[in-house]
Amino acid sequence: MNGIVPIIKPTDAEIDEALTVLEMMDAVVCAYCGDTATEWDHLRPLVENQRPTGYIHEIHNLVPACGKCNQSKGNKQWKEWMFGDAPLSPKTKGVADIDARAAIIERYEEWTHPTRVDFAAVVGEELWAEHWANHRALLKQMREAESVVEQIRDLIAARVEHAVEPVLTGEPDGGFTGLVTAVEDATTPVSASDASVHWDDTHSLGEFGFTGFKSVGELRENMLQTPDVRGVYAVLRTSPEEPRFLATGSAGFFKGKDPNANVSVLQANWVSDAVVVYIGKAGDPGSSATLRSRLRQYLRFGAGENIGHWGGRYIWQLADSTDLVFCWKPLPDGRPSEVESELIASFRSRYGVRPFANLRK
Ligand SMILES: [Zn+2]
Repeated sequence: MNGIVPIIKPTDAEIDEALTVLEMMDAVVCAYCGDTATEWDHLRPLVENQRPTGYIHEIHNLVPACGKCNQSKGNKQWKEWMFGDAPLSPKTKGVADIDARAAIIERYEEWTHPTRVDFAAVVGEELWAEHWANHRALLKQMREAESVVEQIRDLIAARVEHAVEPVLTGEPDGGFTGLVTAVEDATTPVSASDASVHWDDTHSLGEFGFTGFKSVGELRENMLQTPDVRGVYAVLRTSPEEPRFLATGSAGFFKGKDPNANVSVLQANWVSDAVVVYIGKAGDPGSSATLRSRLRQYLRFGAGENIGHWGGRYIWQLADSTDLVFCWKPLPDGRPSEVESELIASFRSRYGVRPFANLRK
């Protein structure tokens, strides 16, 4: 999505003019609450329901904001949000000069109307429809490609197991899956160090080396689809529908603790134009955890068992949590915690906030 929304870089004079209209020539503060500004926030959302609104990246559509306001506001309309009851909204925080602040933002809106592009009208309905058809076809093709890769992996893994060592009991050990993963890694065109995720769609995750793309339901049927080596993983929600949150999700009460968050907290955390809802890691040098062991815990926790996979628990309050899709990037010789941090930072630089269910990093 971001690839098609134009960016107009402001001149220094335009930034000065904007700050004058915002009455911030002396100190640049959050336009919504007056706290220290740490970022620029899009006054009007660029994306709604995974489609561009027509607003673009330009100074007339940006105001200085603090991280908390930016995160709380998300893709909501600024005025509704400011005077609404979302956690950390200016009204909720009790910002004393909220009316004066809103009046300045209104003047800012009148100062110069932001550009609004009717994408479909400019490029033509046909090209626009073609773009979204490509988008859907890419997702479909990627799933098909993954399924072929898996069949190959399973066949090879089965052959290697029988040829090298008699199977004892239980699952194939890490050595074999590690070997297959290494072979698969060699065919992956880019590595963690020389590529970045663009976050616009799952295709970009595939380019970064993510594989799997299995639904919760599919994984529960067969966890052996997951590599028994360390790595990073991501949870995706690909539905175009607005999410519905359950007051009581499916997660277990680990050590008696209630895993459920207030629905308003979930709504405030939701990143509406992002497909990725959680990024996690499994293992690190010196740790025995693997993608398979961590994902097994995560899914059992999500099925109501009293197992500690507290991180990422918000996903289990999505009404359609069984349709969530897991993908992973095996890093048998890497440092998953570092790659996980890089991925979260990259997501954050794209959306201004962490993925929906990543609470601390
Ligand atoms: Zn603020």
